[in-house]
Amino acid sequence: MKSLRKFSYNIVRWFDSEAAAYDGNENIQGDPQNSRSVNWQRIIPFFAVHIACLSVIWVGWSPVAVAVCLFMFWLRMFAITAFYHRYFSHRSFKTNRFWQFIFAVIGASAAQRGPLWWAAHHRKHHKHSDDDHDLHSPKHGFLWSHMGWFTCEEAFKTDYSVIKDLAKFPELRFLNRFDILVPFLTALALFGFGHLLEIYYPELGTSAWQMLIWGFFISTVILAHGTFTINSLCHTWGKRRFSTRDQSRNNFWLALLTLGEGWHNNHHRYAASAKQGFYWWEIDISYYILKVMSWLGIIHDLRSVPQRILDEGRQLDGKLERDSAERSIRLGS
Ligand SMILES: [Zn+2]
Ligand SMILES: [Zn+2]
Repeated sequence: MKSLRKFSYNIVRWFDSEAAAYDGNENIQGDPQNSRSVNWQRIIPFFAVHIACLSVIWVGWSPVAVAVCLFMFWLRMFAITAFYHRYFSHRSFKTNRFWQFIFAVIGASAAQRGPLWWAAHHRKHHKHSDDDHDLHSPKHGFLWSHMGWFTCEEAFKTDYSVIKDLAKFPELRFLNRFDILVPFLTALALFGFGHLLEIYYPELGTSAWQMLIWGFFISTVILAHGTFTINSLCHTWGKRRFSTRDQSRNNFWLALLTLGEGWHNNHHRYAASAKQGFYWWEIDISYYILKVMSWLGIIHDLRSVPQRILDEGRQLDGKLERDSAERSIRLGS
């Protein structure tokens, strides 16, 4: 009976992420517990999204379905990197309430929970990078940093005390609380789109189910793991230009995959900047798009990297190059 009650509490929280958690004493608890053990029932939707991808065996593929999968990946990766991360978490540029809402919705369609939840956790990550309070530091285990940390009770709640500037917008609080709504509507829209293509453009060889699996499920899973690499791989694999107090790294490949987030050591050195690729050779696609959006008047006041930090980086690069040249000479002699 007790386990059934717990299960029903968890099911309610799939739909209303801020519904009270079950405290184990048949009482509704206002504040979810601070446990770091995995709540398997609460994360059934996360598994379901992965398992749904397997139905590709039945639905097959078509060029248009793969193209929509890639489009949905890039669109939502941009919304996550440029808005969930650089805008909501770091306030690295400004925009109006309309565009803030539009990109919050696109970000929410990535099924990485609401903008307030995301930003609150991320602000704490910067405050406690790689110390004991950093929930997703690889020091607690690589797999944990990649996809374990958000499965525990401590992670489910949104800490409103660190995002007061964002919580004053009721539309953001709504998206955050009912965080399954936008992903569900996105999946439904893709299903409908596939159905229309099937009727009006049968020569494309796609279907409603194919569009749902490729456009939503496969795209969402690649996007999720792409985002997770910044917490896991970008704190373990790559170069450290700046000796920040955390273990952040710069990684070209991850920067390509995540539209610029792979310059994570740069970012930990100066997180307030809208740009994470500090120099022209550090490809940062999200920043290029943000720049175009600023020319169009959609966003403004992009914060840049101070010259002293750029100079510091160049000096450190020179030192790294000298050190490695010395090493190779020593090895050669
Ligand atoms: Zn980090
Ligand atoms: Zn950040």
